[in-house]
Amino acid sequence: MLLALLFAAGAQAAAPALPIDEDFAQADLAGVIALYEDTSGQQDFAVAREQSFMPASQRGTNFGFSRSAWWVRVQLANQGDRDREVLLRQDYPLIDHLDVWTQDANGRWQVVRTGDLRPFSTRPIAHRDFVFPVRLAKGEVRTVYLRYQTSGALNIGLSLASPHQLIENISLEQLAYGAYFGGFGVLFFYNLFIFLTVRDRAFFYYLLYALSYGLYFGVHNGLSFQFLWPDSPIWGNQALLVLLAFSLIFGTMFARHFLNSMRHSPRLDRLALGVQWLSLAGLFASFFLPYSSLIQPMAYLTIVCVAVIVALGGVGLAQRYRPAGIFMLAWAALLASVLIYMVKTFGLLPHNAFTQNAFQAGALLEMVLLSLALAARVNELQRQTLTDALTSLSNRRYFDRQLELSFAHSREAGVALLILDIDHFKRINDRHGHAKGDEILVAMGQLLRAEAPAGSIVCRYGGEEFAIIVATSDGAHAVSVAEHIRGAVQTRFANELEVTVSIGVASTARHSFSSEMEFFKAADDALYRAKQNGRNRVEVATA
Ligand code: GH3
Ligand code: MG
Ligand code: MG
Repeated sequence: MLLALLFAAGAQAAAPALPIDEDFAQADLAGVIALYEDTSGQQDFAVAREQSFMPASQRGTNFGFSRSAWWVRVQLANQGDRDREVLLRQDYPLIDHLDVWTQDANGRWQVVRTGDLRPFSTRPIAHRDFVFPVRLAKGEVRTVYLRYQTSGALNIGLSLASPHQLIENISLEQLAYGAYFGGFGVLFFYNLFIFLTVRDRAFFYYLLYALSYGLYFGVHNGLSFQFLWPDSPIWGNQALLVLLAFSLIFGTMFARHFLNSMRHSPRLDRLALGVQWLSLAGLFASFFLPYSSLIQPMAYLTIVCVAVIVALGGVGLAQRYRPAGIFMLAWAALLASVLIYMVKTFGLLPHNAFTQNAFQAGALLEMVLLSLALAARVNELQRQTLTDALTSLSNRRYFDRQLELSFAHSREAGVALLILDIDHFKRINDRHGHAKGDEILVAMGQLLRAEAPAGSIVCRYGGEEFAIIVATSDGAHAVSVAEHIRGAVQTRFANELEVTVSIGVASTARHSFSSEMEFFKAADDALYRAKQNGRNRVEVATA
């Protein structure tokens, strides 16, 4: 009994009129509002305002999903000695119906009916959040009533500010949003141009993912409604689910394509495809089912989707696919930001600008890192086009490029070219089979890499032909390198298959060649002579 009295006293004290003096700048209203829940959702103003309101400080203002209409009462006392206008702001913009009653100079109740299910123009001030001007005559205590009704999450986030203060707040916020969506825009166009040149479909899915995800955040903070579809409130409400579904679809498509999972992890890829179809089903459902019944399944689907994408990345990582590293870092950044946001929501971290915006910031960071991952993928693809798949030595394309470069610089730093051809390889293939032949080529690649002098470029030039570019201005040294390699091959394969190589050597230290073609031909001719003179030997270019 005593306790109840104490509570009652506390309740009275918790919802006093907010004093507004000459110096008033801003105030959070959570501590001064009173609430009434109309479970029928039908009561009109005259009825509702007579009900008993409970201080919000005892109830909290985060309701999750609620079918009720929630009434808010707030009392403002102008203690200054002049009339003034203050601005009441609801800082979560996804409220379906939000009606506000204020009294005019004659004490008559005036209502503004707005909400994101009504056209944007119903707002007294064109802003992504709801902002309502309230006039207060000097010395007066005024009551304001608000009615919230929404099918989404019901967040009552009311604050009051002087016009000057609100201008300062909003100019900072708009700068931050400009930077944020500017970041999305830059990423979008940067990757669009790269897509137009490289035509890699991973970029295409990235673009669609970035677009859906960026717009999704735009819906969340009310900017999309204000600037993109102010006259389409129905679409505006549906857009959240549609864009979420698109984000899931394109995010998954991007991951599958980026990691080439159809080839590298077909089972997981089929699972990802399944999730993609479910997201598509969610997309269609969003045209027929109400937001409230879809948002929860979609939230679960999001978790499954992210888990599958991270698993795909994990497989890529396990298979040592280099771009998978940055890909995983990107998702880790997003997940960490979601975690911060959730921990804040559960009250374990303080509510501040960092924790509040962590989720959005994490999404942009993810996009930046995924863009870097795409660049790594292009590098990897390029590396692959210069690499021989069987031996993982450099291939002929790379060799041609390097020979041109080395030859161009051969005046300053001499260069020698060794061309090797395996002797009677056809016979080895015929006797031991093609697979064994491949094995020998791989072993040969490893041997050449190990035995060639440091800094040489070892390439597989053709079928069973190899080329080595050695940086040396000493012709005799080049020949001894060739002899060393010939001997090493002979020793390596002596007991099993008796594989040997013939080598032709040309060196810019011994002769001057007019072009790298001539240089190459000299080494090739020397190789031809080595074959003619009995194989398993080294011949040097004569002229
Ligand atoms: P020579 O001593 O005159 O060089 O005799 P050879 O049999 O090595 O010469 P040739 O150039 O006529 O034959 C090369 C053979 O190498 C023919 C082809 O079957 C084999 N070969 C080429 N590429 C590959 C490959 O990737 N794997 C395997 N197993 N064999 C290959
Ligand atoms: Mg051969
Ligand atoms: Mg050959």
